[in-house]
Amino acid sequence: MNVPAMQRLIAELRQSGITDERVLAAIAAVDRERFVSPTFAERAWENTALPIAFGQTISQPLVVAAMTEALAVGPRMKVLEVGTGSGYQAAVLAKLARRVYSIERYKPLSKESERLLIDLRIHNVVCDVGDGSKGWPAQAPFDRIIVTAAAEERPQALIDQLAVGGILIVPVGRDPTAQVVERIVKTDHGLQRDTLMPVRFVPLVAGALPVLGQG
Ligand code: SAH
Repeated sequence: MNVPAMQRLIAELRQSGITDERVLAAIAAVDRERFVSPTFAERAWENTALPIAFGQTISQPLVVAAMTEALAVGPRMKVLEVGTGSGYQAAVLAKLARRVYSIERYKPLSKESERLLIDLRIHNVVCDVGDGSKGWPAQAPFDRIIVTAAAEERPQALIDQLAVGGILIVPVGRDPTAQVVERIVKTDHGLQRDTLMPVRFVPLVAGALPVLGQG
């Protein structure tokens, strides 16, 4: 791992307001370079989103850090991630949670992430291929749910699969220039909602897989 570059990123995340030491340690422990193509290896520790296959992106580290911090993951928790992509966010969550279930609609992305995580000796992530907007009913309820693609509306299926006391972090917005990350907390008395920050995510696409991704 390029330790000086990693340390510069961690310093930048601190300056940007990330204070949770467990989150910073998890980000420091996951070599982001492994999750990007060789073309972008030199930029892996920059605080920027980068392209991955199928026109998708590995999220900006500050966004990963802020959303992970807001998720408030504890070591005994079961977490659902929607949008495995490169597997990077799943790897960071794996350092913080008991088990991570991550669902991706592009089979090749899911399979590649699965292989990479094993290669990195991360064994508490379970990957699956499918429409994550429907959640993962067989494994519900989840203590925490994080969506790493932008939903047009608050995803009710995911709220339904949240345990009481659970937190859902989801970027919401139809217009890509007007997405915000929402935090939804499920309590005994109902849902509490607040807005965290503006973001730009690729869309959460419901429904069948495109033929291209079924290889
Ligand atoms: N968490 C990822 C970010 C990936 S970008 C990372 O750390 O790299 C968002 C991903 O969500 C894309 O790979 C996209 O294919 C996936 N996605 C979009 N809609 C989805 C859906 N309905 N179900 C599952 N995955 C979805």
